[in-house]
Amino acid sequence: MNQVVTEKKRIYLSSPHMSGNESKYINEAFHTNWIAPLGPNVDEFEKELASYVGTRDAAALSSGTAAIHLALLLLGIEKGDTVFCSSLTFVASANPILYQGAEPVFIDSEPDTWNMSPQALERALADAKKSNRIPKAVIVVNLYGQSAKMDEIVNICDQYQVPIIEDAAESLGSSYKGKKSGTLGYFGVYSFNGNKIITTSGGGALVSNDEESLKKARFLATQARDPALHYQHSTVGFNYRMSNILAGIGRAQLEVLDDRVAARRAVFSKYEESLRSHEAITFMPELEQTMSNRWLTTLTVKFEKKMKIIDNLNRQNIESRPVWKPLHLQPVFKGCTYYPHKENICVSSNLFYRGLCLPSGSNLSNEDQDFVISKIKEVL
Ligand SMILES: *Cc1c(COP(=O)(O)O)cnc(C)c1O
Repeated sequence: MNQVVTEKKRIYLSSPHMSGNESKYINEAFHTNWIAPLGPNVDEFEKELASYVGTRDAAALSSGTAAIHLALLLLGIEKGDTVFCSSLTFVASANPILYQGAEPVFIDSEPDTWNMSPQALERALADAKKSNRIPKAVIVVNLYGQSAKMDEIVNICDQYQVPIIEDAAESLGSSYKGKKSGTLGYFGVYSFNGNKIITTSGGGALVSNDEESLKKARFLATQARDPALHYQHSTVGFNYRMSNILAGIGRAQLEVLDDRVAARRAVFSKYEESLRSHEAITFMPELEQTMSNRWLTTLTVKFEKKMKIIDNLNRQNIESRPVWKPLHLQPVFKGCTYYPHKENICVSSNLFYRGLCLPSGSNLSNEDQDFVISKIKEVL
């Protein structure tokens, strides 16, 4: 990495953006001494989140990763099982598969959404059926806010009766054909990590219409305590609940979620308008009848240009990054089975090679974005 030569304030890909209302809920928690992984903010946050996305229930948890782990537990995934997962994603989508001692099978992207290829999924499921190893779940990721081709994916998974976990960690606030992202599978997962569209500094949620399962999720997330005065436990539990303080931050953040989506979409539009005349660049598409929260503005450009842009931005203390390295190429998942989009076409590794993420925060100022654009244009 080249040395940063200026003292300018760093421009991040995505930084927390508080509304100002957070302190109200936090003070309330202090005032009433609800400084615990339960309390009124947690209960209200769960109701408000479920109501926003339109599911029967939501469980507030310590992270999105914990939500994926609990979804796998609730679907009975254990040692020796297989779970299919998008390859082009952050490692947290698949790590919980390994926590359970199960085996991930990675599915490539397709070019229209950069997300799970229905064709590759279909081939993988046909093979799984032949070898009598139908997966116990499919984890579908909605990358950078863009929904996967859910109709096709749901249809294929229904044929094989495999439940879907929708990893909507990056797509809270997005919609697919009128439904909120994260509500199209059996379980949906959100993250409130510091870099996500809204944040509780750290946190996550599991949503579903299966209220019984979410009851069980809360039970497992609080050390699986049996109903007894003394502490009694019959199964392995976890410490996965969200604290009442952080849920307070979440409540105030949820109030401004739609504003945050609008702001990120405006950031995307400005990049697109300023850079679309450059033939070298292609922006991440938005599938018809879907609305992406444009969590991060991403584009593809020749590899050499991409590296030059990253370098030129870094010299000005501006963060930019390649798109996620596909999990089938990650050392930790070495040896795992992988299904490319078509026999000889691997879409995810191509996107990794040419894909670039730009500063996209809802708090990115116009002046800062103009500066970023000018530094990209220098390279183009
Ligand atoms: C951030 C993220 C997660 C994990 O969320 P945490 O709250 O950080 O545990 C999972 N999947 C994807 C795609 C993510 O971007």
